[in-house]
Amino acid sequence: MGQKQCDLCAGTEFEQIGTRDRHHQPLETVICKTCGLVAHGQIPSDEELARYYATEYRQSYHGEMTPSDRRVMRAWKNGERIFGQLQPHIEPDMEVFEGGAGIGCTVKVFELNGHASRGIEPGEGFQNYSQQQLLTNVVRGDLFEQPRDKSHELILLVHVIEHFNSPRKALEYIRGMLSDDGLFYVECPNIAAPFARRSKMFHYAHIHNFTPASLKMLAESCGFKLEVQFGSQEDPNLQMLFSCSDSTELTIDPDNYRETMQVINGATPLRYHLRPYYFSSRATKVASYLKEHLTAKQFVANAIQECQKFAAEQQDEAPESLRSAA
Ligand SMILES: [Zn+2]
Repeated sequence: MGQKQCDLCAGTEFEQIGTRDRHHQPLETVICKTCGLVAHGQIPSDEELARYYATEYRQSYHGEMTPSDRRVMRAWKNGERIFGQLQPHIEPDMEVFEGGAGIGCTVKVFELNGHASRGIEPGEGFQNYSQQQLLTNVVRGDLFEQPRDKSHELILLVHVIEHFNSPRKALEYIRGMLSDDGLFYVECPNIAAPFARRSKMFHYAHIHNFTPASLKMLAESCGFKLEVQFGSQEDPNLQMLFSCSDSTELTIDPDNYRETMQVINGATPLRYHLRPYYFSSRATKVASYLKEHLTAKQFVANAIQECQKFAAEQQDEAPESLRSAA
C-alpha cells in the first residue's frame, strides 16, 4: 500500500476498500484505520496532479472553452442556495473570497447582494467566462499564491477540498489567510450519504473522500470550529460553516472508521436501485433535464443582463474621478 501517512491523523495503518474508479479504471482506495479518512492508496504528487489536469483539461474542454448554459444555470442556482444559507450567519458587509470559483456564479451572487467579493480559478475557460460574461472579480490563480495576511473575512471552498493532495495543507493555508474572526465555508461530496453506489463512488480527481466526522476532525485540527452544518448527515454534499479557533488539537472521532466502513459496505448496486424514490426520480430527472435545457438559455441571458445592469449602476455611483479614469 502506497500511502505512508494519513493526511488527517498521520496514521499509518490502512485498509483497502476499492480497486476501481467509477469508470472501471484501476484506482486503489483505502481507509485510515485510525480516523476513518478515505483516500487514494497512492496520493498523487503536485507534478502528477498538474499533468493530470493538463490532460483532463484538454479532453473535457476540447472545443468547449465556455461552459454550457445548463452548467451556468446550475452554478448560478447553487450560488443562490449558498448565499441563502449563509446570509443569516454573516455580516452584511463581509468581504468574500472564493478559492476555485469555477464559473464565478457564487462570487457574483454575493456581489449582487452587497458583498465585496472576488475569487480565483485556475481553469482558463471558466475564468474567462466569469470575468467577461458575468463581469466578476475572478482572476486566474492558485490558492497557495495568495498572501497569508489574515485579511480575509469569509472564504468559500466549494467542491475543491476533495481535489487537494493534502487537504490539511490547504486548510492550514486558508486559516492563515483569514482574520481571527473570519469564517470559512466548505462544501464537498459526502461519502456517508446513503445509496451512494460503491462503483460510482471513487474518482481519480477526488483524492480524499469525507464523511461529516472526518471533515469536522480535519478542520478542527487546522484551527477551525464548526458553527453550522447545513443539510442532514445524509445529504449528498457536506456543507459546513466554520469560525476560527486558537486550537489545532486533533480529536479523533473513535466511531468514524467503523461507521464509514458500514456505509461503504452498505453501498451496493442493489441498495442503490431499491431506494424507494429511484423510479420516480429517474422519470422526474428525464423530464427536468428537458425542461432545464429549454429554460437554461433564457435563464443565463437574464443573469448576464442582471450582471451588466449591476455593473452600470456601480459605474454611475462611482465618483467622477474614478469614472473618467476607467
Ligand atoms: Zn487517519
